[in-house]
Amino acid sequence: MAMNRRDFVKTTGAVAAVSALGFPHIARADAKKVVIVGGGTGGATAAKYLKLADSSIDVTIIEPNETYYTCYMSNEVISGERQIESLAHGYDGLKGYGIKVVHEAATAIDPDKKLVKTSGGNEFAYERCIVAPGISLLFDRVEGMSAAAAEKLPHAWKAGEQTRILRTQLEAMDDGGVFVITVPRSPFRCPPGPYERASQVAMYFKEHKPKSKVVILDSNQAFSKQGLFEQGWTRMYGHGTDNAMIEWQPGPDAAIVRVDPDEMLIETAFDEVKGDVINLIPPQAAAQIAIDADLTDNTGWCPVDMKTFESTQHAGIYVIGDAAMATTMPKSAYSANSQGKVAAAAIVAALNGEEPGTPSYVNTCYSIVGKDYGISVAAVYRLSADGKSIDSVEGSGGVTSMDAEDFSLAREVQYAYSWYDNIVADSFF
Ligand SMILES: Cc1cc2nc3c(=O)[nH]c(=O)nc-3n(C[C@H](O)[C@H](O)[C@H](O)COP(=O)(O)OP(=O)(O)OC[C@H]3O[C@@H](n4cnc5c(N)ncnc54)[C@H](O)[C@@H]3O)c2cc1C
Repeated sequence: MAMNRRDFVKTTGAVAAVSALGFPHIARADAKKVVIVGGGTGGATAAKYLKLADSSIDVTIIEPNETYYTCYMSNEVISGERQIESLAHGYDGLKGYGIKVVHEAATAIDPDKKLVKTSGGNEFAYERCIVAPGISLLFDRVEGMSAAAAEKLPHAWKAGEQTRILRTQLEAMDDGGVFVITVPRSPFRCPPGPYERASQVAMYFKEHKPKSKVVILDSNQAFSKQGLFEQGWTRMYGHGTDNAMIEWQPGPDAAIVRVDPDEMLIETAFDEVKGDVINLIPPQAAAQIAIDADLTDNTGWCPVDMKTFESTQHAGIYVIGDAAMATTMPKSAYSANSQGKVAAAAIVAALNGEEPGTPSYVNTCYSIVGKDYGISVAAVYRLSADGKSIDSVEGSGGVTSMDAEDFSLAREVQYAYSWYDNIVADSFF
């Protein structure tokens, strides 16, 4: 793909205003080094757009896995609508841009010496570092829960083996069984994700195990696209009737307090709930490497300068994606992709001695609620006047209409598939 820096700025919408001089062409003998920790959606996007904007930058991704499984569309694997292989992506596309990919884990980041240390005992010097490691799952916040117990009570909130385990458990469950999904307190990865999963499991039950039921134990009192989800549940899964296939129990009463994996029992503030399959999604924070590198604050997430995504705690390190605190932007792949472009543009400017432009950001989240039944929310964001928050631009996006006709809901599913292909291509190829 041939694209110069000016095209990048124009077409991504990542930077609304750049210096009047534009991006200078600077050929340097001493390569400018950027090291990226994490080759997920955020890290991959940043790597690619750094190279597109300035091919002289030496870009290295540190990522332990040779294959990345997208979480997005993984709910369709759980409902049996697609195979997990369709979510697997390698790094050859990025290597084609001249990006180096090292399959090791980052074990430490030294902001003074500007070094990333890895599990292979290697050290990578950088001028700028991007940290995009995603989330950590805080199993110890739930009494009785542990990483080992997640083999039996899968979270499937990082795609791959966990997704397979949950799918296998659902297939093995008898008709008439209860699938319990627990939702942690916000913020967490993919705000509509648990409700899409409940919908997808109900879709599977409706066709294959019609006497079965989905129970959502939510730590929150409201959720993303709630009206639209509930409308879909009413139309397809008997929501609000005695035969409802999906029962939503809101927080704080339904917040999980304790779990007994042997008994397959969940204790909430006021109840005990037994599940045949339990999908326990634990509370979340930025991934461990971000915590170890002192990039998180007492919220568990990484505070950043909203204009550039540079850490407010360590200069020269940029945090993007789920690990970052980006005010109103949800923790989504689309956000991670958008933030990757903003950080890339800011770094290109900095390495070329320029001021960063003022960015705009974008997010769309599709949810597939049932057969031919999709809904979505979209927003364009801009930096607030004081630069302290990322605010959605009034009238820029919106949600699916509650009056949407069948053909329109069916079309949203096709849009969701098309979105998937596009974001994977934009981030990894
Ligand atoms: C069920 C589900 C459905 C979803 N659906 C959607 C959707 O429809 N649309 C949407 O926009 N988003 C969706 N999401 C959210 C989306 O998957 C995440 O927001 C997105 O993956 C975040 O990107 P990231 O780059 O921050 O983290 P990730 O994609 O998780 O990438 C982080 C990478 O960092 C690596 N890493 C971690 N630690 C280290 C280390 N120490 N050293 C080196 N590498 C490390 C990991 O191996 C990983 O590859 C969904 C999520 C779930 C769970």
